[in-house]
Amino acid sequence: MGLMAGKRGIIFGVANEMSIAWGIAQQLKAAGASLAFTYLNDALEKRVRPLAESLDAELILPCDVCKDEEIEAVFETVRQEWGSIDFVVHAVAFANREDLKQGFSQTSRAGFQLALDISAYSLVAITRYAVPLMTHGGSIVTMTYLGSVRTIPNYNVMGVAKAALEASVRYLAVELGEKGIRVNAISAGPIKTLAASGIANFREKIKLMDDRAPLKRCVDQEEVGKSTLYLLSDLASGVTGEVHYVDAGFNITGA
Ligand code: NAD
Repeated sequence: MGLMAGKRGIIFGVANEMSIAWGIAQQLKAAGASLAFTYLNDALEKRVRPLAESLDAELILPCDVCKDEEIEAVFETVRQEWGSIDFVVHAVAFANREDLKQGFSQTSRAGFQLALDISAYSLVAITRYAVPLMTHGGSIVTMTYLGSVRTIPNYNVMGVAKAALEASVRYLAVELGEKGIRVNAISAGPIKTLAASGIANFREKIKLMDDRAPLKRCVDQEEVGKSTLYLLSDLASGVTGEVHYVDAGFNITGA
């Protein structure tokens, strides 16, 4: 019996086979979980659907997290099909490309709101809809980055969004603890993905890992997947409100 046998959950954030969410999904499936996936739009559905089907996904649903009605529709379908869920993976973020290269003071009001809405508020909204379905407790994991607590070149508004995301994790953990629902974040080291390609000079961040991370290398999607599996499973039954670093130790030496 796998660690996640009998457990069901929703994964937000697969865009393609490079996505961190895809690395997480593979680990969860190997551990016996039943999975539902969401995709952002029609263009991404073409990529996400075959991936999800290869892991025997039971539900594959559209969801733009800017739209409350789409989040609501996801959870209503899941309620009808499954009745309850055990976990949610939130691996969603976005900022305008220009806001990830110009001086931080140039960030527009609209760009700031967009980044915070998609990258931080969406965890709050998703959690609100997930809670009524977590009838036997549950576990929620989101993805963050060191730019929340240190200034990282070009990370800019996304660092502010990740700070808001990590604070949201703590407030949600306090509110939901008595329901047996745990909320945690994984702070992953730099990994080449679609989202990462929007950050100017991202390659330099990868190179710094080789130089300064204790493990002298980057981490990969599989390693983030394994730690997420731990946090979603009963192995982490006493862990909530945490930011768990999966960054080859870079946070203690590098930044
Ligand atoms: P990715 O591009 O594969 O995933 C980002 C996902 O966000 C995509 O699936 C995209 O469709 C989704 N998304 C964007 N706007 C959305 C919206 N309005 N509604 C619904 N979904 C939307 O890149 P990734 O690197 O796997 O990113 C996943 C998470 O990991 C993000 O939160 C990212 O900030 C975080 N993270 C990434 C790194 C890295 O170096 N790649 C490091 C630390 C944390």
